[in-house]
Amino acid sequence: MSEARLLVLNAGSSSIKFAVYGMAAESPAWHGQAEGLGGRKPQLLIHDGNGGTPEVRKLQDGSHEQALRCLLEWLDQTVGHQSLRAVGHRVVHGGIRHAEPVHLDSELLDELDDLSGLAPLHQPHNLSAARHLMKLRPELPQIACFDTAFHRSQPWVAQQFALPAEWQERGVLRYGFHGLSYEFIAGELQRIDPALAEGRAVVAHLGNGASLCGIKGGLSQATSMGFTALDGLPMGQRCGALDPGVVLYLIQQQGLSVEAVQDLLYHRSGLLGMSGVSHDMRELLASDEPAAARAVAVFCYRAAREIASLAAALGGLDGLVFTAGIGENCPPVRKAIVDHLDWLGFSLDEDANASNAARIHCADSRPVYVLATDEQAVIARHTRELMATIQD
Ligand code: ADP
Repeated sequence: MSEARLLVLNAGSSSIKFAVYGMAAESPAWHGQAEGLGGRKPQLLIHDGNGGTPEVRKLQDGSHEQALRCLLEWLDQTVGHQSLRAVGHRVVHGGIRHAEPVHLDSELLDELDDLSGLAPLHQPHNLSAARHLMKLRPELPQIACFDTAFHRSQPWVAQQFALPAEWQERGVLRYGFHGLSYEFIAGELQRIDPALAEGRAVVAHLGNGASLCGIKGGLSQATSMGFTALDGLPMGQRCGALDPGVVLYLIQQQGLSVEAVQDLLYHRSGLLGMSGVSHDMRELLASDEPAAARAVAVFCYRAAREIASLAAALGGLDGLVFTAGIGENCPPVRKAIVDHLDWLGFSLDEDANASNAARIHCADSRPVYVLATDEQAVIARHTRELMATIQD
């Protein structure tokens, strides 16, 4: 009989990232993505573990359903129909109820759909992939792993908004996101610096979406994102923390519709809005436009302020970790952030920072690490563990 496999999916608006794992494997045998969905040239890219040229399959209509159908066909041809035992999904918002991964059924999908307004860029796409698969392969167990789950360990005080209690009771709380990434990094810290893993660390997940998490003893204590993934740091296109009075002003005084405000805050703000050049940090760092440099400066300044705020929540700070696209690859951004934090005992070794080394601090600094994150590996592990309990 062929080897049992797990499929991990991260479905977004224009792409579906996937990875295929053996039941006991730490790294995927294949990974790739359906990309350009909804565009003119949708295609499925498949990489094997050897780093060669990817296999490319054209997609006809660019719908998410067709992309999943094509992925399943490829899996049937490659590993055999019976091999696939479960699918693990990244689901961004699990709301107040879900602190652990869960087995999805259509009732639960309806419940999670109610949270789509809180994560409009991700949640509807995460859930529609699961719905399509339920139709295409109804016998296949599907597991949801939530980005909010890791933060359910935050103390109550870190979860509050200063709103009347009735709103908290209705679930208006600071949830936090990027939890699958923080969970992975917390595990990596155990491996590379067990003392820091037991101590007080801030992890900076800096990608197109960006947030920070204060972790103590492996548990989330506070995080920069809140009720939605708009809060906290400025991001590629999202505004980050904003005086809520600005939203009222835009609607009441400037006559913007709710939809226009949503579009402004989710798609036209952040690095793109401030620079007028790009949402992409690489392009901003390469640009001669003064507005590009200013946008990067605001990003780094806000990140440093939020790190110091998390240090207060943790009762001190023993170390820093940078991760995700910007965190792993942008030395000038790490330098600008850490330069703001020298009063907390942090300084960088310039050569180590310039080469994106794993340890980038000076000998007399508290530790600063650059660690690659791997949300898919966390989803694979949870899916495997939950499948073992279902099969027992
Ligand atoms: P997300 O997963 O949230 O879409 P990523 O983690 O892929 O985002 O991060 C995207 C950001 O990381 C972009 O701003 C991009 O410029 C930056 N980035 C990614 N790779 C590199 C690199 N090799 N050098 C510099 N910046 C990079």
